Amino acid sequence: MVFSVEQPRPHIAILPSAGMGHLTPSCRVATTLAAQGCHVSLIVFHPMVSNAESNSMATFFSTFPSIHPIHLNIVPLPGPGDPFFLQFEAIRQSPHLLLPFLTSSSPPITSIIVDISLASTFLPAISPTGISAFVFFTASASMLALGAYFPTHIDIDQSQRSKDHVEVPGVGFIPMASIPPQLHNPSDLFTTQVVTNGRALMQANGVLINTFEALEPETLTALNNGVVLPGLPPVMAVGPLKQLPLMEASSSLPWLDAQMEGSVVYVSFGSRTGMSVEQIRELGVGLERSGAKFLWVIKTKMVDKEEAQVELEELLGEELVKRIKERGSMVVHGWVEQEEILKHGAVGGFVSHCGWNSVMEAALHGVPMLAWPQHGDQRLNAEVVRRSGLGIWVEEWSWGGEGKVVKGEEIEERVKELMESPAVRSSVARVAAEAVKAVGDGGSSEKSLAEFIAKLEGVK
Ligand code: UDP
Ligand code: UDP
Repeated sequence: MVFSVEQPRPHIAILPSAGMGHLTPSCRVATTLAAQGCHVSLIVFHPMVSNAESNSMATFFSTFPSIHPIHLNIVPLPGPGDPFFLQFEAIRQSPHLLLPFLTSSSPPITSIIVDISLASTFLPAISPTGISAFVFFTASASMLALGAYFPTHIDIDQSQRSKDHVEVPGVGFIPMASIPPQLHNPSDLFTTQVVTNGRALMQANGVLINTFEALEPETLTALNNGVVLPGLPPVMAVGPLKQLPLMEASSSLPWLDAQMEGSVVYVSFGSRTGMSVEQIRELGVGLERSGAKFLWVIKTKMVDKEEAQVELEELLGEELVKRIKERGSMVVHGWVEQEEILKHGAVGGFVSHCGWNSVMEAALHGVPMLAWPQHGDQRLNAEVVRRSGLGIWVEEWSWGGEGKVVKGEEIEERVKELMESPAVRSSVARVAAEAVKAVGDGGSSEKSLAEFIAKLEGVK
């Protein structure tokens, strides 16, 4: 996009919320807009919850000096509760810290992109400034449809609501088992946030979402036709968002280079899912029995700062560690550069919790997924994975932390299916081709991005 004297470069502020699942896609939006010629400022609240967030933001700003940082300090809210949701809430209470920067910036800020989890407190605060405000939805169109409709659902008298499902108009029946667990409790902090943010969507000039047309066609149509919620602003699917250039050397790449094409199972449950030691051990047994080489990222705590520096032998047992080493697989107890791994030719399958960023990354790089949702929106995402042909989902496996441990034998069977099924491989190749097409010249996501930029140019 070329801007001129008649059409000066817009200055866009991006307001992410907490957690790598929100920060990473916001950084990707930032670099995408900068590449289109926009001035971009990225707002960061301190202190951050995890080391992964502080490390990655420091590296991001030093790698992309053209992105202007706005650092703000907040007072963290005390627990108990999910520390990331508490951080959402602490940021939600802080629009007064941001407003002076928005109105005094040079060049003047013309638009702001606000993470969905912050929408209901920031959009009304920004409105009097005349700066146009867009919402960034970091998850699937399915979750957006649920989030947009959920306030209406809550308003229905309890005696009139089904106990088995939520029916989202134009999308269909979402079984209660797939609704994020916190939403079953109307007084949960997360439920309050989803309901108020869902209502606030109507105040936005548009919604950017990290998905693509061919992956969730019916849901995107229902959102944009006003079937899910009449009057919803335009939903622009711009995914899969482009990976950031590798910012740090990745220690697993030399190992991957030595493996055969498509032979490695990559196993990771994202940046904020800790697994019980018992389940980790069964997973180790299952991976070993599958006979495949694996690259396995282990996490036992939700927040990386609390992760104890225990030896793998202590976690997995000496025998298992010995056998893993003998067979030449790799176990990492820490951070890896996931997208570098997923795009490596040696990786042939991904055992994943189905955090939405992971789903988008697997789609773009054509890596078949074994979906094992652990919390939040991940069962909705797993349904998208299954329906689109991006992978398989064993629905009977319970949420993480429910106490029901999945046995090694079951895991072995499903990992073999993931790695050996020609049907899965060919359907995933189709999804990947659609993903690449969407972000290529004239693709649906490229057009949506152009539509978004045109809206920015029209502002002020
Ligand atoms: N990620 C990574 N290395 C890790 C764990 C996660 O690079 O060791 C990245 C991953 O590629 C994705 C993001 O962190 O971009 C996690 O987001 P996702 O929505 O997949 O799951 P969440 O961590 O929010 O549950
Ligand atoms: N979410 C939402 N409305 C909100 C806050 C969150 O729809 O007000 C969505 C969010 O985009 C994600 C899901 O709820 O899909 C769970 O949130 P979380 O931050 O746990 O996602 P994660 O980063 O773990 O994938």
